[in-house]
Amino acid sequence: MTEEEYIEVCPVCGSSHWYYEAGGYTGKLYHCKNCGYIGPLIVEANQEMIDAIKQDYKRKKESKEGS
Ligand SMILES: [Zn+2]
Repeated sequence: MTEEEYIEVCPVCGSSHWYYEAGGYTGKLYHCKNCGYIGPLIVEANQEMIDAIKQDYKRKKESKEGS
C-alpha cells in the first residue's frame, strides 16, 4: 500500500495556496489566493481528490469563459 498524504486545499479550485482570514463573528475564514474563495470550509484531500477538484474547477472556468 502506498502512503497517502492528505493536505488541506481550497474546496473550489483545489489549491493549497490559501491563508487564514480574520473573519468577524464567525472566527476563522479561509481565503484562497488562487480563485479568491473566502469561506469557513477547507478540504482535506489526497492527490487524487485534488486532481479531481482541479479538473472540475478548470472545466467550470472554461465553460464560463468560452462562449
Ligand atoms: Zn481556490
